Amino acid sequence: MSDKFDVIVIGGGPAGYHAAIRAAQLGLKTAVIDAFVGKDGKQALGGTCLNVGCIPSKALLDSSKQFYNIAHNLPVHGITVENAKVDLGTFIGRKDKIVKQFTGGVAQLFKANKITSYFGTGKLLKGNQVEITGNDGSKQTISATNVILASGSVPIELPFAKFDGKYIIDNAGALDINDVPKRLGVIGAGVIGLELGSVWNRLGSEVTVIEALPDFLGAADADIAKIALKEFTKQGLAIKLGAKLAKAEVKGNEVHLTYTDKDGDHDLVVDKLLVAVGRRAYTAGLLADDTGVKLDERGRIVVDEHCHTGVDGVWAVGDAVRGPMLAHKGFEEGVAVAEWIAGKAGHVSYDTMPWVIYTEPEIAWVGKTEKELKEAGVPYKVGTFPFAAIGRAVAMNEAVGQVKMIAHAETDRILGVHMVGPGVSELIAECVVAMEFKGSSEDLARIVHAHPTLSEAVHEAALSVDKRAIHKGN
Ligand code: FAD
Ligand code: NAD
Repeated sequence: MSDKFDVIVIGGGPAGYHAAIRAAQLGLKTAVIDAFVGKDGKQALGGTCLNVGCIPSKALLDSSKQFYNIAHNLPVHGITVENAKVDLGTFIGRKDKIVKQFTGGVAQLFKANKITSYFGTGKLLKGNQVEITGNDGSKQTISATNVILASGSVPIELPFAKFDGKYIIDNAGALDINDVPKRLGVIGAGVIGLELGSVWNRLGSEVTVIEALPDFLGAADADIAKIALKEFTKQGLAIKLGAKLAKAEVKGNEVHLTYTDKDGDHDLVVDKLLVAVGRRAYTAGLLADDTGVKLDERGRIVVDEHCHTGVDGVWAVGDAVRGPMLAHKGFEEGVAVAEWIAGKAGHVSYDTMPWVIYTEPEIAWVGKTEKELKEAGVPYKVGTFPFAAIGRAVAMNEAVGQVKMIAHAETDRILGVHMVGPGVSELIAECVVAMEFKGSSEDLARIVHAHPTLSEAVHEAALSVDKRAIHKGN
């Protein structure tokens, strides 16, 4: 096989594998280089998302939810289960099986699309050559007209709480604990801290979350964040806001922490510490010195609005570049770049990028928050609707949270929709579509929503923008 390709993708995560499959669909001779080693020591395509991110975390969230519901939801339905136990081997094993199914699925898709897959580390050299270092140290060089950099991200390490894989762990470690820790400390009340903190809290860990910022979930709408904080606290997550970790020391089988907040210094002893303070673009060893590809002050690959690096034929996508670190953002960039390379009209809708946090209740949003609109001086009106008045949510015993819709005060165009409640990870899609089609709150208010469904909360919130919700006072 010739080692000259139309497209070489470095990184087989969500951004890279989407780019590769779309490029191959468009008739381009495509290769992917990926270095990720699975739990079985073999190549595992799919990057962070499939191996140690989106999919395994959702598998554990779902398993732990089933267990939590036995004690906290089923009794309301008149169902009691005594002596319910979790077999952690099966719990983690189920997750591993799902991961293997999906990483293997990407390998199958590569075969089906005639994509050449290399297992090793890729380094971009000048002139769109790529040097591959295999795991056995062997080297080979291949080249292409276009190279797409999709090297993703890695967890940020705190200098005073370095990962040791046993007591101080990152997201990968928190997906593979083989004994429920009695006490789990979490640094960072972000997406990972809340999702993985919830998993272990549901299995019985006492979870303390230490968050540096004074506001909870600062990127979310403040009303939604307030409801979520109340619910998570009720579930037993002890969330300390405005708290800075000063020290973390492993002593024996424990981690001794000191954190500081407005009331002074506090000591905390935990059995494990998950550090989830954000991720950073990963570019170690990716670029030879003379490629001309630039990194910004946060170490991300610099690209323009078309994910082009400014170096002829070199593109970059996903977590390694600016923008939110979300799998679906990477998917869209990967596909768009393949289309641009093939001379087609690629497109990424950054303004309607949905965010979802898969806690219970779930949190989801798209578009602007009320705070952002206020700061930008945009006139707006707000409609809200609580799940407590949604028949389906009450029937499910999950009547917590609300939908909040924000529309332009003059044009009625939807500017943002923010939700916390049951199934909102799915409900948000309707709002993304409405915003993508430049819809108004009146558009959603006029659309028939099946009864009884959770989607009626979106309908009623749209009606509420115009103070005409049926099932609440306006
Ligand atoms: P990555 O997935 O990081 O993939 C990059 C790949 O490139 C890796 O396989 C890496 O080994 C490889 N690589 C890097 N450098 C080289 C090199 N030089 N040569 C060869 N290979 C290389 N996002 C969501 O949208 N929804 C979620 O529910 C969600 N849950 C998450 C849960 C957790 C615990 C974590 C950690 C993340 C989660 N994310 C979620 C974020 C999501 O995983 C990332 O946004 C996404 O994986 C980024 O895709 P990517 O392709 O840019 O990079
Ligand atoms: P994050 O940015 O979501 O949250 C990190 C939190 O840590 C922030 O609240 C930050 O203020 C806090 N923090 C930072 N330094 C701190 C310190 N020294 N002490 C205490 N708190 C500190 O980051 P994450 O949770 O690590 O997740 C990384 C990225 O992965 C996310 O930004 C997201 O894009 C992606 N992700 C997405 C999903 C999803 O879509 N459901 C799930 C998991 C991860």
